[in-house]
Amino acid sequence: MVLDAPTQAPASIFEQVAEFQHEQVVYCHDHETGLKAIIGIHNTVLGPALGGTRMWHYANEAEALHDVLRLSRGMTYKAAISGLNLGGGKAVIIGDVKKLKNEALLRKFGRFVNNLNGKYITAEDVNMTTKDMEYIRMETKHVAGLPESMGGSGDPSPVTAYGTYMGMKAAAKKAFGSDSLAGKRIAVQGVGHVGTYLLEHLQKEGASLILTDYYEERAYEAASRFGAVAVGMEEIYDQDVDIYSPCALGATINHDTIDRLKCRVIAGCANNQLAKENEHGPELVRRGIVYAPDFLINAGGLINVYSEVVGTSRQGALAQTEKIYDYTLQVLNRAEQEGSHPQAAAIQQAQERIAAVGKVKSTY
Ligand code: NAD
Repeated sequence: MVLDAPTQAPASIFEQVAEFQHEQVVYCHDHETGLKAIIGIHNTVLGPALGGTRMWHYANEAEALHDVLRLSRGMTYKAAISGLNLGGGKAVIIGDVKKLKNEALLRKFGRFVNNLNGKYITAEDVNMTTKDMEYIRMETKHVAGLPESMGGSGDPSPVTAYGTYMGMKAAAKKAFGSDSLAGKRIAVQGVGHVGTYLLEHLQKEGASLILTDYYEERAYEAASRFGAVAVGMEEIYDQDVDIYSPCALGATINHDTIDRLKCRVIAGCANNQLAKENEHGPELVRRGIVYAPDFLINAGGLINVYSEVVGTSRQGALAQTEKIYDYTLQVLNRAEQEGSHPQAAAIQQAQERIAAVGKVKSTY
């Protein structure tokens, strides 16, 4: 997992909260179970704050706070730009999963979530399993993303992959004048849950595929299944391709890799792809590379979870996810017209929707 380092030593918690503009930050502590958790509620103008709970052995509390503030703000933008009536939230539980995670700790955390009366809805994230969510669900109904067997919306990965595919096609339209991916050379980095579903779409459309994964055997297996060429983890940046699709981890567009990329489009599902948004976003524009904003094109998973909250079907979620194509084109055109970069234009668009809907809600 890649954590953005805080830009400077924070003077106070309130200063950090003010910088990210959060509504509420809840510290949860329980002596008996050893629970230490932080729930970040960034913005609830559009609806309840939804976002997963992550458990991680943070080096210190400042790192945990920074992570929850950053991630919950990201959820606000993702929901807003996708047209969902959801706010942004996230929770982190501090500690070593192997030593600390158990039923009592998770249920205690569930009670803290319940105390927020639905202002925050939790879901699965890094180091949390379906079983863990079942424990949390025993103490609160404010949990989403449960398995279909429990009446939930099930695995979000196919929907995330579909949205990423839509966003990639829109970016291709902008870069090449056509959204067809037939014959396009595409490098997919990471063939896990989402990457594999994405490869299915790309293969169907007749793209020429190159891929890599941290696990060599996973890469070879995917290569033989999708008629792709498997390359080493580092080699993926040097491929002569039309499209680079980061589907593994964040910050892969950075000072070391940007010179090596030969693509005209970047479109993938990984979160926080740009190591430094305000440096690498404009730099990609200067290099003529069309960047499809990550939080916009990977929103399919959230759209799927939202369908569980509002009680619509997976078909409905897929229809909503298809709109990522139009939203991506709008953002790319806007960035061009305003002389900014796509990530900045996407954030701007999300903020405008929140501001506009906030005014709608200003009367009883
Ligand atoms: P995953 O863990 O199933 O797959 C990630 C894959 O990347 C794994 O196969 C892993 O071995 C590989 N990998 C790790 N480091 C690598 C490296 N340095 N080079 C190449 N491969 C590497 O995860 P996922 O659910 O497929 O999600 C992929 C990305 O998309 C993550 O960044 C995740 O946060 C983001 N995302 C996922 C969803 C979703 O619905 N699952 C939704 C939104 C965003």
